[in-house]
Amino acid sequence: WVVLKFGGTSVSSVSNWKNVAGVVRARLDEGLRPVVVHSALSGITDRLEQLLAKALTGDWEPVMEQVERRHADLSRDLGIPVCADLERHCIDLRKMASGIQLIGEVSDRLRARVMATGELMATRIGAAYLAHEGLDVQWLDARTLLHAEERPGASARANYLSATCVFEPDPALQQRLAAGHSVLLTQGFIASDSRGETVLLGRGGSDTSGSYLAAKLHARRLEIWTDVPGMFTANPRQVPNARLLKSLDYDEAQEIASSGAKVLHPRCILPVKQYSIPLSVHDTQRPGIEGTVVTATGGAGGARVKAVCTKKGITLISMDTLGMWHQVGFLGDAFAVFKEHGLSVDLVSTSETTVTVSLDPAANALDARALEGLVTSLSKLCRVEVIGPCAAVSLVGRSI
Ligand code: ADP
Ligand code: ASP
Ligand code: MG
Repeated sequence: WVVLKFGGTSVSSVSNWKNVAGVVRARLDEGLRPVVVHSALSGITDRLEQLLAKALTGDWEPVMEQVERRHADLSRDLGIPVCADLERHCIDLRKMASGIQLIGEVSDRLRARVMATGELMATRIGAAYLAHEGLDVQWLDARTLLHAEERPGASARANYLSATCVFEPDPALQQRLAAGHSVLLTQGFIASDSRGETVLLGRGGSDTSGSYLAAKLHARRLEIWTDVPGMFTANPRQVPNARLLKSLDYDEAQEIASSGAKVLHPRCILPVKQYSIPLSVHDTQRPGIEGTVVTATGGAGGARVKAVCTKKGITLISMDTLGMWHQVGFLGDAFAVFKEHGLSVDLVSTSETTVTVSLDPAANALDARALEGLVTSLSKLCRVEVIGPCAAVSLVGRSI
């Protein structure tokens, strides 16, 4: 098996789709079974978030039309008809938007279902195009492949919107898929929980879908195809003279991804690391460039800064208490509150009187209600200040 994950930009134009078909053919020629995992068309997940917001006020029709038009335009450009399945997803979306308008609120469960529709729609087009190109391709619902794990302590919201999945090698799945068509194609970003309900893996989570499948299938490798030719020393869109990092080890890639380099979702490293599956990053527009390879031995030794990363949308919680100096147990009590509220702490800084922690939106499904609950509980221990949204700038490297 080889798992090929294509991001939003990679699946939004005819020229990119020609390259996708080329990569799939090349893997078949290598004697590998390709599993294609892809995202929604670029910008569609944001549009669906907008659709949810507009549904509450009743003014969702223009957004819905934009979503429909994007998919119809791409189908037309690719020379394939708008299939009945794609139309059904649009009808479902309209029903859900009407329901939200009628009730005047949106549950996390419904939010997950609405946002999952982007991937469902895009992959209908992807499968139809690859079939049109003469490939023997089968569309699979990712919710039958990836199952969310029970996470003690995680909030209900996090379980719907930022779930994690089990990824042990799965011989039954390997057998089932081996009996299928020569190319399998499925959605990133979505999975199902133990009740069979739709859950999301967090924004940008399609990379992690690819990684889970690579682990479950014990794939030869995981290839992440995106809109830049690899992982760079900084975001190449912000820093034009950033350098391509040709080889990294899993821990370096993990640190760079966790510090905000959006090119890899931070949760996509662990599954491939655990089963020593090489991960590579490539540019769909320029498939000839070698890109970045991440393996257990990829890191070059020596102390040096490997990357400068930025991360936005961070919330700081500053805890201030005069009595903290030389006091025993304050940090224990304070961190217990974060645990109780199912919130994962990212960075920590302390001084004599203040402890400040950061909450990463990628790890925590934070909303006003969740923050309010946290502040109420912490206020019993100290004075609390919420600061945000903030940005973090990180230098990542060995022994620095
Ligand atoms: P996809 O839709 O293919 O998943 P993303 O937008 O999620 O693509 O991730 C690719 C983007 O990551 C690039 O366009 C680039 O702007 C950004 N990025 C941020 N930091 C880095 C980095 N260090 N190296 C490469 N890309 C980076
Ligand atoms: N479409 C989803 C998002 O925009 C998942 C992904 O692209 O990885 O967050
Ligand atoms: Mg991405």
